[in-house]
Amino acid sequence: MKELELYVHIPFCIRKCAYCDFLSAPADEVSRQKYVDAMVQEIRCYKNRFPGHQVSTIFVGGGTPTILLPGQIQAVFKAIRENFRIDPEAEITIEANPGTVTEEKLLAWKAAGVNRISIGLQSVRDEELQMLGRIHDYQQFLDTWKLVRQAGMKNVNIDLISAVPGQTLQSWRETLRTTAELGPEHLSVYSLIVEEGTPFYERYGDAPEEIRSEHMQGRTEGRVSQKKFREEEAAAQEEAAGLKPMVYPPLPDEETERLMYEETEKILEEYGYARYEISNYAKPGAACRHNMGYWQRKEYLGIGLGSSSLIGKMRFCHTSDMEIYLACAGVPEKICEEKQLLPVKEEMEEFMFLGLRMMCGVRKSEFFRLFGMTMEQVYTGVLEKLEKQGLLVTRDDIVRLTKKGIDISNYVFEQFLLS
Ligand code: SF4
Repeated sequence: MKELELYVHIPFCIRKCAYCDFLSAPADEVSRQKYVDAMVQEIRCYKNRFPGHQVSTIFVGGGTPTILLPGQIQAVFKAIRENFRIDPEAEITIEANPGTVTEEKLLAWKAAGVNRISIGLQSVRDEELQMLGRIHDYQQFLDTWKLVRQAGMKNVNIDLISAVPGQTLQSWRETLRTTAELGPEHLSVYSLIVEEGTPFYERYGDAPEEIRSEHMQGRTEGRVSQKKFREEEAAAQEEAAGLKPMVYPPLPDEETERLMYEETEKILEEYGYARYEISNYAKPGAACRHNMGYWQRKEYLGIGLGSSSLIGKMRFCHTSDMEIYLACAGVPEKICEEKQLLPVKEEMEEFMFLGLRMMCGVRKSEFFRLFGMTMEQVYTGVLEKLEKQGLLVTRDDIVRLTKKGIDISNYVFEQFLLS
């Protein structure tokens, strides 16, 4: 049987975090129920569509999946089990946010087969959590952590973010050590990216287009003062609305960010975590099988709003429009957008830059098996150049990033683009 991974998207959150550009939004109880009903309809349509596949992992992500009621999660899993063949040893993960987890929900997820929980903590400092716009403080995270362990969950991930506004090297070390001391099996550690369209972009992103062009003409003064003017204007508006104006600390400078990045691996190693992917660390045997599947380009099916899939050589994406999804979920073809048969060149590129994200690297023999050409034939000169630059290392059949290569992985990945 071929392996199939399922990703189930729950696009609801209590409140939008200030840095988040994921497909998620607050919604009332009625809307959430309508969505679950539509999703169950969608899942039922897949019956008999994957006769040669067995589901090896399920990942319920979002958004905040733990916002759903126990009965809603049970309905989704019931539909999945009735319409797919599930490996009895499947890894089944649900993403959870502190403040939305209860004992009753934990029991319901366990009964549904959930055996891995991924908790969004981000920082152990309350002022940083507040700055990020998170709905919880550190104590609420600890309450969730205790509930999760008391429920017997033995495979738990905690998400952390570095380089958040106002963070110092000292506070980042504190976040890493305090979290590692709790002993979760897995840690995902990302640097903050200021995404366009988020409140963070307003505060910390590039200046708007007209200001940027002034800047390019050398009028830096104007750019700075206009940005300051905007900030003062926003503060005045908050004050007029009776709100205590928020003071936004700056982002850590480049050198501090580099040190945070460097120290992360060292500190986590002290606590027994091995880095197995650029941003992921695990205790022995606890690497996330679902994510490994993405990087190894296993087939996956996305269920729900905005989810994407890779089946065979076909990549496709679901609509991000909730109205269309609710109206058409029962006919998956109607919610499908951006269907694309991947050209071989793109498959090769993905093989390289997804595979190289993993510390175990990629196999030359696998490349040949998939594409009928050797890696050297396709990437003439590239492998040699990157090795000479000390960014890649080749040992027999395996090609992987060096430490320097990991630090500037985006540069390395660009070298593998063929078009
Ligand atoms: S909880 Fe996660 S998905 Fe929801 S707004 Fe915050 S970062 Fe985004």
